[in-house]
Amino acid sequence: MLLEVDKVSRHFGGLQALREVSLTAEEGRITGLIGPNGSGKTTLVHIISGFLRPHAGNIRFDGRPIHNLPPFRIARLGLCRTFQITLNPQRMTVMENMLLGARQQRGESVLASLLYRRQVNREEHENLERAWHLLSMVKLQDHANALAGGLSGGQKKLLALAQVLMARPRLILLDEPVAGVNPRLIDDIVDVIKTLRQQGETFLIIEHNMAVIRELCDTLCVLDMGQVLAEGPVGDVLDREDVLRAYIAAGGQTGPATTPDAASSSQEAPA
Ligand code: ADP
Ligand code: MG
Repeated sequence: MLLEVDKVSRHFGGLQALREVSLTAEEGRITGLIGPNGSGKTTLVHIISGFLRPHAGNIRFDGRPIHNLPPFRIARLGLCRTFQITLNPQRMTVMENMLLGARQQRGESVLASLLYRRQVNREEHENLERAWHLLSMVKLQDHANALAGGLSGGQKKLLALAQVLMARPRLILLDEPVAGVNPRLIDDIVDVIKTLRQQGETFLIIEHNMAVIRELCDTLCVLDMGQVLAEGPVGDVLDREDVLRAYIAAGGQTGPATTPDAASSSQEAPA
C-alpha cells in the first residue's frame, strides 16, 4: 500500500473528531473519502498532509512513518495536495503559477545557479515543457499568459490540478475537486483525473458529488462521526443501507444526478 492510515485519532478539546480511523490508498488507484459534514474528512486530510498532528495512530507513506513530519517534508516525499488556486498569486500568470509548482531543484540559491548553470537551464527547459504539456491536458494552454485571478472557478481547479502535477507527486490528495464548479467543467475535471489514472497516478479524493465518486473511485471509505462506517469497492459501499442512512440523516444525496449542489452554488465567472 502506498498510503496506510492506521488507527488515527484526534480530538479538539472534548470533541473527538477522529476515532481510530484506518484507511489505505493503493498505488495506481483512486480512493474516495466521503462522509456527512463534520464527520472528520478535512481533519484527516490535514493530518495526512502534516498540517495537524494525530493524538494516536500511525501514518505510513510507502512504508515510511510520516505522522511526525512537517508538511513540506511530506510534500517532498511525493504526497501532495491541491490547494484552492485562489490561495495562489492571482496576479501571476497561469504559466508562472505552473512554474511555482515545480519541485525545488538546483538553482534555488545564487551559488548553486552559478555552479550548475547548465543543469539549471536544462531543468528550466524541462519544467517549461512539462508545464505546456500539463496545461494542454487541462485545456488551459490558451490561457498560459492570462492572470490566474481571471480564470473561472472550474478553470482554477484545473490549474490547481495541473500545478500539483508539476512536482511529479506519487499520491495526489484532492479536496472536493468539483465543488462549486460549473457542470460543463465537471466533466473536464473528471476526464483529466481519469486520464491521469490511466497513466498510473494515485489519488485520494474527498468529494460530495456522488456521481463523480461513482465514476472515478476504485475504493471508497465512508466516515461518520469520526469513525469509518464502511470501506471497500465503490459500488458495494454505495449500495450499503447504513451508508445511505448516514447520508439521508445528514441531508446528503447519493443519487447519480448531476449535482444540483454544484449548479446552485456555482461560482463560475466568465473566463
Ligand atoms: P468534515 O470535513 O468532514 O466536514 P471536519 O474534519 O472539518 O469535518 O470536522 C470534524 C469535527 O471536528 C467537527 O465537529 C468540527 O467542528 C471539529 N473541528 C474541526 N477542526 C477543528 C478545530 N480546529 N477546532 C475545533 N474543532 C474542530
Ligand atoms: Mg471538510
